[in-house]
Amino acid sequence: MPTDLTPVDDDLAEALAAERDRQRETLSLIASENHASDAVLRAQGSVLTNKYAEGQPGERYYAGCEHADAVEELAVERATELFGAEHANVQPHSGTSANLAAYQALLESGDRILSLEMTHGGHLSHGQPYTMVDDHFAVSHYGVDEATGRLDYDALEARAEEVDPDLIVSGYSAYPRQVDWERVQAVADAVDAYHVADIAHVTGLVAAGVHPSPVGVADLVTGSTHKTIRAGRGGMIVCGEEHADAVDTAVMPGTQGGPLMHNVAGKAAGFGEALDPAFEEYAGRVVENATALGDRLDERGFDLVSGGTDVHFVVVDFRDTHPDLTGERAEASLADVGLIANKQTVPGEERSSTVGSGVRIGTPAVTTRGFDADAMRRLADAVADVLDAPDDESVRTDARQTVADLCERFPLYDAETAVTAR
Ligand SMILES: *Cc1c(COP(=O)(O)O)cnc(C)c1O
Repeated sequence: MPTDLTPVDDDLAEALAAERDRQRETLSLIASENHASDAVLRAQGSVLTNKYAEGQPGERYYAGCEHADAVEELAVERATELFGAEHANVQPHSGTSANLAAYQALLESGDRILSLEMTHGGHLSHGQPYTMVDDHFAVSHYGVDEATGRLDYDALEARAEEVDPDLIVSGYSAYPRQVDWERVQAVADAVDAYHVADIAHVTGLVAAGVHPSPVGVADLVTGSTHKTIRAGRGGMIVCGEEHADAVDTAVMPGTQGGPLMHNVAGKAAGFGEALDPAFEEYAGRVVENATALGDRLDERGFDLVSGGTDVHFVVVDFRDTHPDLTGERAEASLADVGLIANKQTVPGEERSSTVGSGVRIGTPAVTTRGFDADAMRRLADAVADVLDAPDDESVRTDARQTVADLCERFPLYDAETAVTAR
């Protein structure tokens, strides 16, 4: 394995080293981000980036694929074991690509998709305006109950009866509660629709058994591999044998060409790590840390969408407690002190989605650094201090110091990791 991945180009090396240092010296609270291990980084930076391997292991369109086959077989075996699935396709370039392939596998152009409203926590690839999905399918949405912030499955059922969809999408980007996959499946069965469960966010929690699994319930389960599962950037689809051929054909040639084999190697490395019992402990701590964060923000007088969390993030709703604070402002104020979170729309949002009335704060990345509940409470206090007084320079100075202390106490990578600027 290469031990020195120094880019030869000084300008590029400088930017990459600066990014590594940014990750070391700030705290990522973006719920969809994580820090991959050195093994995953190296696999993704490997010579496999050179190899064309269109097709499936053992049935490729090009010669010279024997080692690519071995890598992909490892990733597939580990994915099927992790998720208890009969079939896995690890070639999707991203979660969005996995969803496009899922639609391609199950639907005809013009078919009806029913998915969650984006401002309620849905994802672009579930058919928001300006996407191919919206152009090629008839997309309708369901929502959460605006009073409770929770999915109302009876309302979903009523909406499904109204829309008569060919496909229902479950699984979300900013829904802080567990999803009842069986209940969504019952709705899909009632209207004779397919059900795609998109576990992009909760992939690691599902793999570790700290969130219920839709595998064996929904027709297809799609996901990204770089969020809670920590297996490097990419996507995947897992399903039962009955959909295996349709999924493989939908991924290639349906929606993609050659797989990014270096990223498939990253998935093999990350899935291998996720099979280790230590990963279960990690995933459990991710959720405990989110709970500790939510409890402390609640004590500090903030409102949380749905009143709390049972996943890896909280969504703070400013409308009642801090009516003048926008998500955009909150994001910028937090970033200024090294707390990297993202603005978020909240159910019933009246501001535009580029402004928003909330912020989403996630724990996967800081938990990878080793944060425990005590550290989360310290972090929560810094967040609360900044949000209560975004213009107060002395508050910002204290918060910056807290971030520096926490980064030092829970270090990430080292100066040799992945990119070494010399
Ligand atoms: C993050 C996410 C995806 C995948 O996004 P990519 O950036 O394309 O990997 C898909 N669905 C949901 C619900 C997500 O949150």
